[in-house]
Order: sequence, then C-alpha cells, then structure tokens
Amino acid sequence: MAAKLIKGTEIREQILEEITSDVKQIKEKHGVVPGLVTILVGANPASISYVTLKIKTAHRVGFTEIQDSQPETITEAQLLALIDKYNKDESINGILVQLPLPKHIDEKKVLNAIDPDKDVDGFHPVNVGRLMIGGKEVKFPPCTPAGIQEMIVRAGVETSGAEVVVVGRSNIVGKPIANMMLQKGKGANSTVTIVHTGTKDLATHCKRADILIVAAGVPGLVKPEWIKPGACVIDVGVNRVGEKVSEKTGQKIAILRGDVDFDAAKEIAGSITPVPGGVGPMTITMLMLNTLKALKYKLGIE
Ligand code: NAD
Repeated sequence: MAAKLIKGTEIREQILEEITSDVKQIKEKHGVVPGLVTILVGANPASISYVTLKIKTAHRVGFTEIQDSQPETITEAQLLALIDKYNKDESINGILVQLPLPKHIDEKKVLNAIDPDKDVDGFHPVNVGRLMIGGKEVKFPPCTPAGIQEMIVRAGVETSGAEVVVVGRSNIVGKPIANMMLQKGKGANSTVTIVHTGTKDLATHCKRADILIVAAGVPGLVKPEWIKPGACVIDVGVNRVGEKVSEKTGQKIAILRGDVDFDAAKEIAGSITPVPGGVGPMTITMLMLNTLKALKYKLGIE
C-alpha cells in the first residue's frame, strides 16, 4: 500500500494562513505588526534567492520587512554595529543574518551578537540552551526542526512513546530535532536514537524506527529494507543529483533527491515526505512563526 504523502507545500499554506490571521488580530488590538530585518552581505546568488523568498513570505503574512543589503567589503565591526542598531530598534522583532558571510567576518561572533529575544533562527547559544531545557523555556526552536515536528503533528502521527531514529547530528537539524522529540509534551515524548557517521550498524537502528528522520545529505542513503512497515519517514535531505530543463521556464534547474529511496520507501512507509515539496517549504514558514512569536512575547500574549 502506498504511504500517505506529508506535503510541506500544503502544510505551509495552512500555517501561513494562521499567521496572517493572527497578525491581523494583533494589528487591530495592539496597533503593531511583527517586524523582521534580513541582513544580506554581498551578492551570493543562492543567498539572494533565499532572502527574496523570505521577504516575499514576510510581506504575504503582513509583517513589516526591512531588507538591509550590505557590500561584501563591510567590516566585522560595522556589521556588529548594525546588529546593535536593530537589537535596540523597538519596531524590529526578528533579526536574520543570511549565511554564509564573507571570510573576513567571524560568523559565530555576528550570530552571537543578536539579542537572543530577536534570534528568530534559534541559533544563539541562549536559545540552544532554552531548547535543551524544553517546555516553557523554549522561545525560538530552530526553523527546520520546528518544521519537521509540525509536519509530524499535523500528519496525525503518534509521537508519545514512539521510537524515533534521527540520522545525522548537525547543529541545525539532527541534534535539535532529536532534543525536541525527547521532551515531554505535544508532538514529542518519544524515545530517541541519533545515528551518524560513527554508528556501527545504521540499518538495525533505522529498522526499529516508528518515526525515521533522515538528515545526512547523502542521496538514497536509507534503503527501503531499513524502513519498518507503516513508519513515518521524514526526509530532510536535499541533494542536487543533476540538471533538467524546466517545462515552465525553459531554464536549467537542479534535479533534487532526498536521503531516502523515495519510490521504494513509499510502498513500505505509512507516511512519507517527498523531496522536493516536503520539509523544504517548512523552514521559511517556521521563521515567520518565530517572528510572530517574538512580537507576542514582547506584548505578553504568548
Ligand atoms: P551536515 O552535513 O551538517 O550533517 C550531516 C549529518 O549526517 C552529520 O552529522 C553526519 O554524521 C551524518 N551522516 C552523513 N553521512 C552519513 C552516513 N553515511 N551514515 C550516517 N550518518 C551520516 O548536514 P545538515 O546541515 O544537517 O543537512 C542534512 C541534509 O538536510 C542536507 O541534504 C541538507 O541540504 C538538508 N537540509 C534541508 C533543509 C530544508 O529542507 N529546509 C534544511 C537544512 C538541511
């Protein structure tokens, strides 16, 4: 039997509608809307396209959006001063610095300079600590893991007591999603195993998973026979495996594959995310949700 598809494109629409409606209500009641600033240094084409999408989404949900583009030659001190300015700006609730930064700038120093209460990416050590503590301490869960958890919940998959296996231990996906799934509460309370490049027998661990979350960046790493029948499979991997000509635009576009052999896996899994159109669309959506939360915390309504 074919698995139920968990479509990030559909869930994104639901969440963006919810955010838009919340923004309207807050505006009516409190006279303010969430403010997001996106700082882009230089002209990396991939960064420009991410930032453009973030700005478009922010406008769609009714946020005030400031795009602050800086030249490649900006010094670290100047960038830190800019962050300080936005930290103090009452109209700004979320500060986003698009990575990567030029080599002469210390990324860690810049990210750590963001006020943790405006760190809507959730990468500041204070927010990483809050996530580890869990419960009401959590302010801004990092966007991709938050998107994964939201998809699992909205797909109606039972997480309490479930065996969750996470493939990958990166700071942006593997470690935070593992941490989130083991906390007490809705969409979590799972028994979590993290597997990685040091794991002896990947297959045996994966086969136990009721929920298998794969974020390795290796196309087709997870074989269909590693999937427990009926399991929920979340494929975070986005791997460029070639190019094709777009039917819509006639331009060359990347062929993307996940870390799971999708065609075979969908015959075994109970539910599964496609690539593209699965986890991918959730990241910017959750960034919007975190920015909305930042304003709500400030107003004392969350
Ligand atoms: P990363 O390279 O930082 O980490 C990959 C992890 O996978 C490492 O911890 C490594 O130990 C593990 N790993 C790699 N090969 C392995 C193997 N053969 N066996 C076991 N473990 C292995 O990557 P990341 O930033 O966590 O991203 C992972 C994938 O998710 C990438 O394809 C990336 O493009 C994608 N991604 C997608 C989104 C999104 O859709 N919004 C966001 C972030 C990352």
